Amino acid sequence: MNVLVVNCGSSSLKFQLINSDTEAVAAKGLCERIGIDGRLVYQPAGGEKEVTEAPMPTHTEAISLVLKALVNEKTGVLKSLDEVDAIGHRVLHGGSKITESRVIDDEVIAVIDECCDLGPLHNPANLMGIRACMELMPGKPNVAVFDTSFHQSMPPKAYRYAIPTEYYEKYAVRKYGFHGTSHRYVSGEAIKYLGLDKDNSRVIVAHLGNGASISAVKNGKCVDTSMGLTPLEGLVMGTRSGDLDPAVLEYICNKEGLTVSEMLTILNKKSGVMALSNNLSSDFRDLEEAMDNGNEAAALAIEAFSYRVAKYIGSYAAAMNGVDAIVFTGGIGENAGVVRKAVLSYLGYLGITMDEAANKKRGENFILSTPDSKVKVAVMPTNEELAICRDTVELVKNS
Ligand code: ADP
Repeated sequence: MNVLVVNCGSSSLKFQLINSDTEAVAAKGLCERIGIDGRLVYQPAGGEKEVTEAPMPTHTEAISLVLKALVNEKTGVLKSLDEVDAIGHRVLHGGSKITESRVIDDEVIAVIDECCDLGPLHNPANLMGIRACMELMPGKPNVAVFDTSFHQSMPPKAYRYAIPTEYYEKYAVRKYGFHGTSHRYVSGEAIKYLGLDKDNSRVIVAHLGNGASISAVKNGKCVDTSMGLTPLEGLVMGTRSGDLDPAVLEYICNKEGLTVSEMLTILNKKSGVMALSNNLSSDFRDLEEAMDNGNEAAALAIEAFSYRVAKYIGSYAAAMNGVDAIVFTGGIGENAGVVRKAVLSYLGYLGITMDEAANKKRGENFILSTPDSKVKVAVMPTNEELAICRDTVELVKNS
């Protein structure tokens, strides 16, 4: 089957056309600056990237341009759109009602719509992408794969906040967690790669990208994760603060005359390693280079980031009464040996020893722990698009 995987953000859209039989990517790209001016970047497998400036007032025009590129006479990879068998959509928030991927029908659309409150930047964009695909490719099956659904197996002790129950009952305020597609894919692949018994396994996945989160996966099911009601909770991230005393909000708002919403923008967009490095960068390549040149703020940013990851790993080892494997993924987890080394330096008490030579590798599946390490540590690239493609095929075949 040919599956078009679509990931809509508020002003951008990423896509991949995947052949599910070979799992090869036939073409991929992104639309940027939707609603502003519009730019399509399109790349067929083995071909050059093409950049087209074209107006994209909404996601419908953006998807229409993607479809035209896919069937373009010269660089297209399809003869006609009839060859697209299904569309898989990444959807941010499915609230508590959605526990797995779903074929999109009126009920699923209603839930995504209801959850716009919880995911105000992404859910409306996800809906626009879904509606655009339905309009432009009528009759094709659409599947929604939710960032939150893998975490729905968490027990109440993990997902409830210790605040008055009425806020949970009236407004569904609880931990949801995000990056679920990545945590599910990577934990599943790690179980196979490391030869673990799924039904007797305790895996911690550290998804460390610009947005970063960590999850505890027991017997293939998520039992805890670091992001919360929104992606702001948990680890220190590129520009997000992660965990902090909520009283900090009021204190700074009062001192600086800011609104809560302005303060939240600061915590989401102007904090994290970006802030700790004195606004040098949110990119670990820049931070590493600056640290090597003696920049103390960059060194602090890397240290604080790694320390927070190590503390979460410790708490998830406690939550699962042990850990069999730790997996690093995401742009930082896959590439930044300096972060992996710093994180593992705190975990000797778990009997973990790192293979220094292996830590120089990046961008592939490899084992980072030495053969005698009590806990296996691996680095595994995530592939959310492939996970979405696989879910789409399975659901469409069975529907
Ligand atoms: P997201 O999907 O959250 O946008 P990614 O998982 O793609 O993010 O990760 C992007 C981040 O990965 C970059 O901001 C950078 O910090 C880090 N990164 C990417 N490549 C490298 C590298 N070679 N060395 C160190 N860090 C890297």
